[in-house]
Amino acid sequence: MHETELLEEQLIQDFPRAIREKQFQVYYQPKFDVRPETPILSSAEALVRWRHPTLGMVSPGVFIPLFENNGLIYRLDSYVWTEAAAQIRDWRMRLGIRLPVSVNVSRIDLYEPKLIDQLREITEQNGLSPHDLLLEITESAYTEDSAQIIERVRQLREIGFRVEMDDFGSGYSSLNMLSTLPVDALKLDMQFIRTAFMDRKDTRLLEAMIQLAEAFEVPTIAEGVETAEQVFTLKAMGCDIIQGYYFSRPLPASDFERFLLDHQPGASDVFLNTKRSRRDRFTYKAMHDPLTGLYNYTAFDILFHDSDQEHIVVLIAQIDRYEQICQNHGRGCADRVVCRIAEVLQKSFRSVDHICRLRTDEFAVIMTRITSEGKELVLAKIERANHTLQVEKENIPAVSLSVGVAFSDREEPEGDIFQDADTALKRLKDKNQTGYAVF
Ligand code: C2E
Ligand code: CA
Ligand code: CA
Repeated sequence: MHETELLEEQLIQDFPRAIREKQFQVYYQPKFDVRPETPILSSAEALVRWRHPTLGMVSPGVFIPLFENNGLIYRLDSYVWTEAAAQIRDWRMRLGIRLPVSVNVSRIDLYEPKLIDQLREITEQNGLSPHDLLLEITESAYTEDSAQIIERVRQLREIGFRVEMDDFGSGYSSLNMLSTLPVDALKLDMQFIRTAFMDRKDTRLLEAMIQLAEAFEVPTIAEGVETAEQVFTLKAMGCDIIQGYYFSRPLPASDFERFLLDHQPGASDVFLNTKRSRRDRFTYKAMHDPLTGLYNYTAFDILFHDSDQEHIVVLIAQIDRYEQICQNHGRGCADRVVCRIAEVLQKSFRSVDHICRLRTDEFAVIMTRITSEGKELVLAKIERANHTLQVEKENIPAVSLSVGVAFSDREEPEGDIFQDADTALKRLKDKNQTGYAVF
């Protein structure tokens, strides 16, 4: 505790000099509009870092709360806004690229009498319109002294600024306020994404939040998005904008400039489109097998290439004598067999594993964060699934699966993990054997 206090004292003491010497550096993290088929770069968030001469890089998580408590935050924030505005202008002049940037506005800043004039001045001096500078105001701001704060936000919007409510749902939110709330977008708290995709994947709350925003006709932004699975799930649920390591970490201006040149930003009309039509669930359909609800081949392809190729195992499972089942029992029965297999696979594997239906009689499982040390565990799962399926159930005949398996750390790979799992399966079939074969 003592050390923390000392550090805090030092940071406060060093602040004026840090501003003078430009030790604060603004990083930029892209936000993508994911509504079109190919995501388009639509804006960036400015995030501050402190390059301290003796302490090195200090994270905003350390100094922002500190400066919020002692009145320094407004000076820091207006410094960041000024830097961001100058940067927008610089990109426009030099590169001919017009990219809006969102800046963070602390709750404390909203009490500053000069706020409106200052923001207006910063934009005007750089030849920007208020649409170029988006304002992220954290949700907790709205509850503290709501009347005054809400009035402030109303004024900002009146002169043309767009306001995104940051950390929405983080705990203070009064759902009641949504109907009177003056905001242009809801930025979901990162924790929702974390929770939804934890070991027990459960995206119901996340989807409900997005639907809530949809009902109030404001776009939603998700941040902290790290994987392809998260991207297409969010997209399918109707999320409009995505920010996170999946696209890029926050980058210093010079690195961001390269990113900008590689991903020419497009005109994104997310705020203009106020009356939003009922979203078709196109992405969901495009990624899922309609019969079993499992991921389909397209999703498999994305998940496979997105996974950490050093620590996975891929299983390809084929239904034995599938044609015979169709002939002897009919299509309807074959469909029931397929559905039962989907169910058994889902029960046998972990919820973090990706289970896909590749073709009529073929499934694939990607198990993440695993090496061949976990081989026994993987094989036991296959055996258990096969064991269950070999018992006839109600009107579903007994079936068995032939499974090809390949681990990332297999010896002497021939192709990629998928190809090698497929080779293992072929060898098994060529020998007229069933069960499993490890490449
Ligand atoms: P925030 O506004 O919620 O910013 C998002 C934080 O998530 C950033 O942390 C960002 O680097 C991080 N992040 C982005 N994508 C991912 C991801 O895919 N995975 C993970 N794990 N994290 C991701 P950062 O830069 O450390 O900032 C922390 C907080 O500090 C910000 O949270 C914001 O509240 C505050 N902050 C940052 N810059 C400023 C500023 O200029 N002014 C004010 N008032 N607050 C700031
Ligand atoms: Ca933010
Ligand atoms: Ca946030």
